[in-house]
Amino acid sequence: MAVLTVPGIDLRSGDTIPVLGQGTWHLGQGRHSRAEEIRALREGVELGMTLIDTAEMYGDGASEKLVGEAIAGRRADVFLVSKVLPSHANRRGTTAACHGSLRRLATDQLDLYLLHWRGAIPLQETVEAFEELRAAGLIRNWGVSNFDLVDMERLLRLGGGGAQTDQVLYNLSRRGIELDLLPWCLQHGLPVMAYSPLEQGRLLDHPVLRGIAIQRRVSPAQVALAWVLARAGVCAIPEAGTAAHARQNRAALDLRLSELDMLKLDEAFPPPVSPQPLEIL
Ligand code: NAP
Repeated sequence: MAVLTVPGIDLRSGDTIPVLGQGTWHLGQGRHSRAEEIRALREGVELGMTLIDTAEMYGDGASEKLVGEAIAGRRADVFLVSKVLPSHANRRGTTAACHGSLRRLATDQLDLYLLHWRGAIPLQETVEAFEELRAAGLIRNWGVSNFDLVDMERLLRLGGGGAQTDQVLYNLSRRGIELDLLPWCLQHGLPVMAYSPLEQGRLLDHPVLRGIAIQRRVSPAQVALAWVLARAGVCAIPEAGTAAHARQNRAALDLRLSELDMLKLDEAFPPPVSPQPLEIL
């Protein structure tokens, strides 16, 4: 399969991820037909959105099974990301969860394995489990999700210097990370993976977004994505349940917002004026 390329961001490990990937939280759970969702993911990969983000939590494994089916025969083209639930993230639990994800995804290695959010299990145990999985070749990289600045600093103090990313909520209506977490991650060479870049669709009726979309002859989703993609060191992972949405999202990479568009968006969605606690969906 010929896969179009999109610009990449280097991880500290030397691997590269595309700036635009695909989310899967609600896939495999009947929102669209299974065939349509598989078509959407495959089309997305063919268009260069080769990073696919899933988690053992999504649909209790149903999302991973659908992803496994979608990438069958094209595993080598995909940068596959999954996540361990915090309640599983002790030494043995992490390994067992990883094996479960690999089985459902019908693969023998994850490209990136994330701790879904911070739970009660000591972080050190999860880091050790991730390092063991990496040494055993079951994962290539590991990272975290929903970690605020204080958690990231703690992680590094614990010797978690092998972390490759923090996957967090970031979109026009959730700009809290811009003053602290985002610059800190970039300073430390950690790309930020922006989840829910469309605010799960809730952004798309906003009059300012719609106005810019009409003027630029694109869709509001493309404006929202182009805004996230304009930021260096950020990878966005919108979820598309249809091939038409996947194509539209890929085309957002070709949209350059003007200075005036950016000013209008800043006015409608003001940046933070002081550090904010990390928001989570
Ligand atoms: P999202 O990507 O912001 O929005 C998805 C919604 O937008 C779906 O309803 C989808 O509808 C719609 N959509 C997609 N493309 C569109 C387009 N071009 N035009 C109009 N509507 C469009 O929300 P999300 O699924 O919450 O976030 C994305 C991914 O981030 C998730 O799937 C998951 O992989 C990850 N995530 C991670 C965490 C975490 O805690 N780490 C939390 C949330 C999400 P259709 O289905 O009809 O295409």
